[in-house]
Amino acid sequence: MLDDISRPPQNPAPQDGALRPSEAGAPAPLIDPFQRAITYLRISVTDRCDLRCAYCMSEHMEFLPKRDLLSLEELDRLCGVFIARGVRKLRITGGEPLVRRDIMHLFRRLSRHLDSGALRELTLTTNGTQLARFAPELARLGVRRVNVSLDTLDPDKFRAITRRGDLAVVLGGIEAARAAGMQVKINAVALRDLNADEIPDMIAWAHGLGMDMTLIEVMPLGEVEADRTDQFLPLSVARQRLESRYTLTPLPDRTGGPARYVRVEETGGRLGFITPLTHNFCESCNRVRLTCTGQLYMCLGQEDSSDLRAVLRASEDDTVLARAVEEAIARKPKGHDFVIARRRPAAVPRHMSVTGG
Ligand code: SAM
Ligand code: SF4
Repeated sequence: MLDDISRPPQNPAPQDGALRPSEAGAPAPLIDPFQRAITYLRISVTDRCDLRCAYCMSEHMEFLPKRDLLSLEELDRLCGVFIARGVRKLRITGGEPLVRRDIMHLFRRLSRHLDSGALRELTLTTNGTQLARFAPELARLGVRRVNVSLDTLDPDKFRAITRRGDLAVVLGGIEAARAAGMQVKINAVALRDLNADEIPDMIAWAHGLGMDMTLIEVMPLGEVEADRTDQFLPLSVARQRLESRYTLTPLPDRTGGPARYVRVEETGGRLGFITPLTHNFCESCNRVRLTCTGQLYMCLGQEDSSDLRAVLRASEDDTVLARAVEEAIARKPKGHDFVIARRRPAAVPRHMSVTGG
């Protein structure tokens, strides 16, 4: 299974946002107004990062003051509320999640939900710079899969794209994760002038090591120095080019995730395409995103959010928090409306590192 398969909705969300007990007495799963079951929460634990990828951040980012961030205990409490309401998969992301101080404390706390069976998967998306240090403990805690973002295998290009990174460190992190028994998936943003030519070789490399790979289209999130029309490579074009070297067989898997997968016959590996611009993936969306300041975004590409930090700090009663979550889910929009056009401001002012990629 590539990702969580959305479970068919059991009980439509009540229009008034009230909790509705199921027949067994447990709270009903979170169902949005379009009958999508929300079973997947992505949590950005920090907006900070040790890299400055050119499509993600500007060179001189202003980060949030630390006092605005949810504490690790508050993050744990919020996650517990989502899990009690039927969320089965948590992805820890950022910014770079592994640069948050004491982040392993949160993983240790959350792993109890894996032990109890309430949570099906605990995972993370990382740039890999700190993986060599943390992979063994993550694996011990039950993290079976990790997504590592890597856009090139050329050390100079890597430094240029990330504005400061050392490719060897990331490759070491990937090795450590594999050695610890974790399944690694490589995520690469398709960049017209920077890595377009390299994509076929990266696929051969990833598949040669038994890793899935996913290509992502640049999304207009947050202002960066570059013009995103110069960065944007439609994956329809990338796919056409790949077909001159590889035989791509579409896989039937319909997952709750945004990727559409193919098998690359020559390598035997799996390749995903995340195409928010050229193919809208919203109809099967099963996820919501929590920022490091406790804002719940129902859609990566829309502005509406719910301030769960205020609710969390106002009451110690988890049913109050659960009700706020339910009310937010009842406002989940049908989809995003990203467009990349020259001289247009970013469609969404938040950087990906704020909402959590
Ligand atoms: N720092 C971690 C990492 O790089 O994996 C986690 C956070 S990062 C924001 C998550 C993912 O978002 C990465 O795969 C990154 O390449 C992707 N990303 C960042 N900005 C993006 C953008 N504007 N469009 C598309 N993908 C983006
Ligand atoms: Fe940092 Fe990840 Fe954004 Fe790169 S993509 S700047 S690694 S948060």
